[in-house]
Amino acid sequence: MGEPRRIRASVVIVGGGPVGLALAVTLGKAGISCVLIERQTEPLAIPRGQNLTARSLEHFYYWDCADELRAARLMPPGFPVGGITAYQSLSGEYWYTPAGRETVADFYYQRSERLPQYLTESVLRTRLSALAPVTTLYGWTAEDVRQDAAGAHVTALEDSGTGRCEIEGQYLVGCDGAHSRVREQAGIASRGADFDQRMVLAVFRSRELDRLLERFPPRTTYRVLRPELNGYWWFFGRVDPAETWFFHAPVPSDATAASLDAPALIERAAGSRVACDVGHVGFWDLRIDIADRCRQGRVFIAGDAAHSHPPYGGHGLNTGFEDAVNLGWKLAAVLHGWGGPGLLDSYTLERHPVFAGTGEAITRGIADDRAFLERYSPEHGRGEFERAGGSR
Ligand SMILES: Cc1cc2nc3c(=O)[nH]c(=O)nc-3n(C[C@H](O)[C@H](O)[C@H](O)COP(=O)(O)OP(=O)(O)OC[C@H]3O[C@@H](n4cnc5c(N)ncnc54)[C@H](O)[C@@H]3O)c2cc1C
Repeated sequence: MGEPRRIRASVVIVGGGPVGLALAVTLGKAGISCVLIERQTEPLAIPRGQNLTARSLEHFYYWDCADELRAARLMPPGFPVGGITAYQSLSGEYWYTPAGRETVADFYYQRSERLPQYLTESVLRTRLSALAPVTTLYGWTAEDVRQDAAGAHVTALEDSGTGRCEIEGQYLVGCDGAHSRVREQAGIASRGADFDQRMVLAVFRSRELDRLLERFPPRTTYRVLRPELNGYWWFFGRVDPAETWFFHAPVPSDATAASLDAPALIERAAGSRVACDVGHVGFWDLRIDIADRCRQGRVFIAGDAAHSHPPYGGHGLNTGFEDAVNLGWKLAAVLHGWGGPGLLDSYTLERHPVFAGTGEAITRGIADDRAFLERYSPEHGRGEFERAGGSR
């Protein structure tokens, strides 16, 4: 291995998922030099966080790439982003269309949007490439993170080669996801709730499912409630208008891609035979993990590194964009010399209650659904079920 490359910048960002990219855009636009280190050379083509709130779109407008984001979507413009809730299966007799984020649309300057997270990341990567203060190291992994009185230091290794880079900054931000190495190395503890529930994420193609759903008004997501799911859902979402879908469902703790019959589970949730071609099967654990604080000296954490929530309600990515904006302008203010001494600590003070409140809302929602479905059933008392909220 030769001499390491050395880079100095005001801010070092570890992790260039959506939140690290958004923070780099915020800082780059403010004229702050930063280095972004991201392991993946290209965004991973798995449609995770798709629902972007109107508030997130306001940030994209400020980042000068709202039009590019809307152009990257796979769904037709104006396609309703709300959902259908069905009892027992998507073929079941009992269903309703709860009001969604469209109810608050007029309070925002931008409309909400929906597209796979990897396309959102591509838009942000492109935007970043036009910002001179930002250096990107894609295909590099941050191996070691440390801080001292003078600054924060990162050693990064090139994944496809022998490159080594020593990066030094005044501040460092870990946007390196739920298993954050930065959080761990900074000694920031995190805690939360483990629901002890493994979930599958299947991505599949099926035109038949689209045809089955023609009985409903057009919608983007479809949630199936069943008493035996204990408050968790079978959940379908459109990735494109006609045939690509994702599907979440609770599964046994020992389920693997080899042991799980994903098409059979999809068929049960659909309540009808639907031919499907499953392209991806992955798993995630239903847990809430919230960092005790978001700062340790010169080191900060943002996005899933600071708060990981199950995707119920689609909060994770949107919350992460808020972190990036909140921390971004404060770092810029301090580095430009006009931010006061308490400004950077206000990041934890402002964001932590939001993380905790989101966790509480998700936990309460699961418990409420479980209690509701244990107590009420349309088969044994439709009027009572509807009055209690099962057919709103
Ligand atoms: C199935 C699923 C569905 C979801 N649906 C929604 C939704 O509808 N709406 C919503 O708002 N959220 C949703 N989320 C949550 C959303 O995907 C996450 O909140 C979001 O990805 C967080 O972004 P992030 O940048 O903080 O972390 P990540 O996306 O995890 O990115 C972290 C990045 O850091 C990189 N990295 C890690 N360690 C290192 C290292 N040492 N060196 C270099 N790079 C490193 C990784 O390669 C990765 O790119 C969903 C999540 C899942 C799992």
